[in-house]
Amino acid sequence: MNKILLGIGLIFISSTVFSQTLIHRDPEIAKMVSEVSSDSLESYVRKLASFDTRHTLNTDPENGMPAAQNYVLSKFNSFAQQSGGRMTAEIENFVIPADDRRIKEDAPAANVIATLKGTDPNDPRVFIISGHMDSRNKDVMDKEGIAPGANDDGSGTAAVIELARVMASREFPATILFVAFTGEEEGLKGATYLADKAAEQEWNIGAVLNNDIIGNSSSSGTLIKDNLKMRVFSETIPANETEEMARIRRYTGAENDSKSRQLARYVKEIGERYVDQFEVKLIYRADRFLRGGDQTAFARNGFTAIRISEMNENFYHQHENVRVENGIQYGDLPEFMDFEYLRKVSAVNVASLATLASAPSQPEEVQISVRGLSNSSTLLWEKPAIGKAKGYYVLMRETSSPMWEKKFFTTETTMTLPYSKDNYFFAVQAVGEDGAESLAVFPTPSNR
Ligand SMILES: [Zn+2]
Repeated sequence: MNKILLGIGLIFISSTVFSQTLIHRDPEIAKMVSEVSSDSLESYVRKLASFDTRHTLNTDPENGMPAAQNYVLSKFNSFAQQSGGRMTAEIENFVIPADDRRIKEDAPAANVIATLKGTDPNDPRVFIISGHMDSRNKDVMDKEGIAPGANDDGSGTAAVIELARVMASREFPATILFVAFTGEEEGLKGATYLADKAAEQEWNIGAVLNNDIIGNSSSSGTLIKDNLKMRVFSETIPANETEEMARIRRYTGAENDSKSRQLARYVKEIGERYVDQFEVKLIYRADRFLRGGDQTAFARNGFTAIRISEMNENFYHQHENVRVENGIQYGDLPEFMDFEYLRKVSAVNVASLATLASAPSQPEEVQISVRGLSNSSTLLWEKPAIGKAKGYYVLMRETSSPMWEKKFFTTETTMTLPYSKDNYFFAVQAVGEDGAESLAVFPTPSNR
């Protein structure tokens, strides 16, 4: 008897698991994911690490930062030939203003950017994948000393280059920017320049996927070797939160539903949908403990941005001078990287970015009705401003759950569910003709 019950229980549990992990892969996106190559990634990292240094303030045209920037530009330009004229690339020069921290006087600097123009002239959205080109050794202001920066952040830069290669020949309604920033180590200078320009020119940025330190799978100290997980950092309290935003967050209990948290959930869902043997870990922080990254420059201006990083960092090979000490090789060298691991993280990026740039924009005016007390929940919304939705998912999760747990599909712009808003969180996302989902929108209360 017990044995039979146990058997039935197991069947029930396993069918529950399978029903919640139904995988539908868009064949074109799956193909892009399959084209991400560890060999290509390794070749970019080795080339980037071969320059003496990519320090932000280095000016050596043969073996320094300018040479490395020309290399990235040449890669972008070679891929642009497959784009039918839609991809263009440039070195965007700007001046880092002197500050009272690391930059003593105004300094010339440059980001390298490839733009894959969207095919829909009515779609103003821009999606950004980024990494930082600049490297450093122990002394953050040493602009001459050897600093290979293979993993920090040759790895993120290599992912940016590889996605430009894979995506150049593909068509997306929205525009995609592939960005190799400079000045990250001196205080997010290149990212701040671009994020401020984007705010000033009122760019419609859909999402920023910032990749920093994504190509190593073995930890220092704890000796963990694991190529099965990566991390996504997303802010809990928005960096640009106003008093009014804080008030709404408090009374709706939305402290786990910032825009960047929705993006982090999206990357986990889509990444795990397309990349086998890989788990995306949500970290409920804007960045690692007391540390920062280029996504912060965008978050400060109210844009939706996350940081993607490897699971286990190796501090023998981060911000260290290249040397051997007590039998240990220090320095950020390519031989300590795991290029198959870097392939998986890059593949999560391409799956997420391709889905985002294919999907319609988010539903507008997403609201939850609070007209009278009820044990059911009614959501209302308007169609997306950009692109066409074939329908919508209303998402639901327990208040204690990190990820959305149920998806209800509808072609209407309202849905009533027999679940109480006192006990669950809800959100709505738009679904495009080919099944690509927009980011989810957390509702605001409404008397409708
Ligand atoms: Zn970095």
